[in-house]
Amino acid sequence: MSKLKVLFVSSEVSPFSKTGGLADVAGSLPKALAKKGVDVRVVMPKYKNIPQKYQKKIMSLGNGSANICYGTSGFEIHTYEEDGIIYYFIEHNLYFERDGYYGYGDDGERFTFFCKAALEMLPIANFKPDVIHSNDWQTAAINLLLKANYIHGDFYKNIKTIFTIHNMKYQGVFPKEVMDSLLGVSWEHFTYERVEFHDQVNYLKAAINYSDAITTVSKTYADEIKHDFFAENLGGSVRDRENDLYGIVNGIDYDVFNPATDPKIFANFHANDLRGKYVNKKNLQEYLGLPVKANTPVISVITRLIAQKGLDLIGAIINDLLQQDIQLIILGAGEYRYEEMFKYYAHAFPEKVSSNIKYDDYLANRIYAGSDMFLMPSLFEPCGLSQIISMRYGTVPVVRETGGLKDTVIPYNKYTGEGTGFSFANYNAHDMLTVLDSAISTYHEREEWRGIIMNGMNQDFSWAHSAEEYISLYNKITSKNETNSSSNITVKKNSRKKAPEM
Ligand code: ADP
Repeated sequence: MSKLKVLFVSSEVSPFSKTGGLADVAGSLPKALAKKGVDVRVVMPKYKNIPQKYQKKIMSLGNGSANICYGTSGFEIHTYEEDGIIYYFIEHNLYFERDGYYGYGDDGERFTFFCKAALEMLPIANFKPDVIHSNDWQTAAINLLLKANYIHGDFYKNIKTIFTIHNMKYQGVFPKEVMDSLLGVSWEHFTYERVEFHDQVNYLKAAINYSDAITTVSKTYADEIKHDFFAENLGGSVRDRENDLYGIVNGIDYDVFNPATDPKIFANFHANDLRGKYVNKKNLQEYLGLPVKANTPVISVITRLIAQKGLDLIGAIINDLLQQDIQLIILGAGEYRYEEMFKYYAHAFPEKVSSNIKYDDYLANRIYAGSDMFLMPSLFEPCGLSQIISMRYGTVPVVRETGGLKDTVIPYNKYTGEGTGFSFANYNAHDMLTVLDSAISTYHEREEWRGIIMNGMNQDFSWAHSAEEYISLYNKITSKNETNSSSNITVKKNSRKKAPEM
């Protein structure tokens, strides 16, 4: 049997580019798939910020062009191979030779071009995938473009698509004129059942409607997004496709996030010998200018500083929390109001709070390794990787029971000794404080605490299991080829009456 071929498309891929969890997934899931025999290749933009050590190694493969803004624009394809995976980089100086990755006024144009270039690249790279697996709105146009324009060409015939939603909040909504100027697809697709959203084009909605299967990154989030609160105004579309929607929890790369070998942390350690963990705590306190106190619990937060992450709950109780003998370490960047809040508390409580307002991979691992607790009280959380990384590094998560946090953290039961963390159900600051208080008092019961650390460290959050789930899904959608060679959603029937999507 020939190998299953998958093109994985992402706007960020660790270690080449990263702003959050999407990069971790795009960096680690393909590796896990390759280990299980899938011919998986990854395509991403060639950003200016890709570290020099990779820039030096990537090689030119050829040139292509794609239509955009009523004209044609050229791009160059570069390639690099590591751990059995071929990576393709799309170079376009105007679009990607900039600082950072997102937040530009022409992001719609940049990423639509990237999607077209990824499709145009395939014959040049001589790679015909069975499945194109795209992720989040930046790569969502691929699923529409394939079904609307490309699938009829011989090369693209029978290619299936999977779209993974890492966060419903970011949808890529643009004026309807992009139907002509950017996408170049027929206006027959501009209907409520397909891409139209309040008289605009919604890329995420397009991918939901045009993919053979849709996945999201935890089972609970897959259920949650059928409800309007979590669906960010796309509840109708999600419910329409619920038979093709799957929740597959993210894993982490156990080679990259490994306290026994991680070169970024102060001392290595493993579940059977935690001495190195306490060295990390001491060094971290010193490094951040906090008093070195072995018996004071260190609570940390590493996150993008945005409302989704429950930072308002922290703001509401931080004064109460700081009355206790604890230390609070923040690492994050984002919205000004949260940056200022944490800077203020670091200034007002220098013995207790360390606020590091930046993005810093190195410091992140040191904090995961040197903390006692990791606080993640998200309003919603599609999967969340930070709580998983914490457990891997022997740091006990305190989370709100939503999305992937609910699926990955087992609440501690002091009667049975089972559980990997602490959790609360309602989005309520005082519920969170009560649970934090309980975690802090358990922390002082040394044997009990050690048991929770061990429970977390002994969980398996590697990709082994979830990669199997993706492979089953790839096989399921590609097997439809044999029974029914005409694509079922090339032209999606207007099967649904207009349901409210507000
Ligand atoms: P999201 O994808 O919503 O940002 P996740 O928990 O899924 O949240 O993934 C966040 C990833 O980004 C983790 O690997 C986390 O360690 C990392 N991260 C977030 N903020 C920072 C930061 N300021 N510095 C370093 N790493 C960060």
